[in-house]
Amino acid sequence: MTSNQGTRIDLSKGSSMKSERGSDDLRLSNGRNCPEFLIVHESDSSWGTVEDIDEWHRARGFRSIGYHYVIGNAYPTAASWRKHEPVVRLDGKLRTGRSLGDPDDVDMQIGAHCLGFNTRSIGVCLIGKHGCYSEAQVETLYDFLEGKCRQYSIPPERILGHCETESGRREGKACPSLDMETTRKIIRSRLMGRK
Ligand SMILES: [Zn+2]
Repeated sequence: MTSNQGTRIDLSKGSSMKSERGSDDLRLSNGRNCPEFLIVHESDSSWGTVEDIDEWHRARGFRSIGYHYVIGNAYPTAASWRKHEPVVRLDGKLRTGRSLGDPDDVDMQIGAHCLGFNTRSIGVCLIGKHGCYSEAQVETLYDFLEGKCRQYSIPPERILGHCETESGRREGKACPSLDMETTRKIIRSRLMGRK
C-alpha cells in the first residue's frame, strides 16, 4: 500500500462524476435533490475520511465531496493502514459528506456520485476496496439504508449498487463490491419486521 493510493484510485473513478459540470441530471431538477433511490459506493481505498474524499473530488473540479454520506473504517490515514494501527472508535462511523449549505439539509443537496441519478438519489460511500468492509461498517450501512427507506418511503428495490446503474455498468465498475441482492433482502425483511 502506498500513501498516494487514494488519489491514484480516485482518478480512475472520475467519469461517473461528470454530472457536476452539467448533464441531463441538472436540467431535470429545480436545484433540489429528490431522494427516490439509495446508491451505495465504495471508496476503492483501504483508508480515508470524508476530508480525504472531499479533497480528491475537489481536485477533480467538483464543488465538494460528491457523496452525501461516508461510512468509515478503522483506518483514517494511509499511515494507520500501513502500520496496522486501527482507530476502533471510527470503525463504522457514519459521517455527512456533501454539505454545500445547511448540514441538516444534506439529503436535499444534489450529489455528484452516479450519472443519471444525481438529482433523485442519496449516495453513500463505504471506505474500503474489494469488498473488504468491517462488520461495524456493514451494520451501519444496513441501519442507514433502513432509516432512509423509512424516511423517504423508498422501496428496498430502489437500493442500488453503483455497478447496477447504467453509468456504473458502462464504466465496468464493481463498486461497491457488495452483494446487493442480499443487502436488499435484509433491508426488506427489516422493514417488514419492525415498525
Ligand atoms: Zn461508485
